[in-house]
Amino acid sequence: ERGRLSRLRHKPAVTLDGERVDLLANIEMPEDTIGAVKAGAVGVGLFRSEFLFMGRETPRQTRLPDEEEQYQAYKRAVEGMQGMPVTIRTIDVGADKPLDGKSTGKQEHLNPALGLRAIRWSLADPAMFLTQLRAILRAAAHGEIHLLIPMLAHVSEIRQALSLLDFARVELDNRGAVHGNVKLGAMIEVPAAALTLKTFLKYFDFLSIGTNDLIQYTLAIDRADEAVAHLYDPAHPAVLRLVADTIAECRRQGKGVSVCGEMAGDPQFTRLLLGLGLRSFSMHPSQILTVKQEVLRADTTKLVPWAQEVLAADSPAALLAR
Ligand code: PEP
Ligand code: MG
Repeated sequence: ERGRLSRLRHKPAVTLDGERVDLLANIEMPEDTIGAVKAGAVGVGLFRSEFLFMGRETPRQTRLPDEEEQYQAYKRAVEGMQGMPVTIRTIDVGADKPLDGKSTGKQEHLNPALGLRAIRWSLADPAMFLTQLRAILRAAAHGEIHLLIPMLAHVSEIRQALSLLDFARVELDNRGAVHGNVKLGAMIEVPAAALTLKTFLKYFDFLSIGTNDLIQYTLAIDRADEAVAHLYDPAHPAVLRLVADTIAECRRQGKGVSVCGEMAGDPQFTRLLLGLGLRSFSMHPSQILTVKQEVLRADTTKLVPWAQEVLAADSPAALLAR
């Protein structure tokens, strides 16, 4: 099976009816771009930058990566992708991705997934966030970078994040540092965001749906709690509705949209997402060929009406299984 799949590596991901689909890689470290290119990814759809910040507990590495270290890492990722776009998500720590608590002094709370994480963390520590933004803007001088902000829910957070981005540019200009342009994106992973898409699309060039958290927050199921894992259902009609509406609204407005949660790399969902109009999927590199095989067999003209049936079903999972 692997051998057969590997023959698909250089084949473009195009459906039977000629729809081109972008299959992108999720990465955690710049070196992961090697595997991404090998797997035939046409870009990085999610660079989880928090992995540069996590697990630095060796005596010499207790501090967070400074601007230069981050800049070098982002630049390596861009160079590794050889001209293809790289989507860098700003730091998403907290909850299931604890940073070394000692270095920040931030403490554990009862519901960490509902607490200070991702953009909330960044806005609570503007110096850290500005450092990251400057590093990303500098790396953007070396290739195409899309800047992605996680966990946004409030327009006030959007405005604060964007004004810090402006400020980071001013800081770089003031010191005469070279920097580049970035496309700006927001993750849709809180139901509140999926229900206020028009607001998000006023500010952003593209949206990326983080189904892992969107499922967790829509269904009130801790994504890391084994005791309720059986209720963590990606095919719950409420989840599918939010995903469908996000894709549809972006398409209506001509904005980019992708899915970068696990759903994008699960071949059970490929046909549904294609039928809902998705043309950009970001996943672990090991899933790319499997999903590509689904794309090559798909006919979107048939999948569009079928996807509407799936959306309307009480138990969509039954329709997804072949
Ligand atoms: C998601 O929530 O779907 C996502 C891609 O982000 P992470 O899994 O890193 O929280
Ligand atoms: Mg997430």
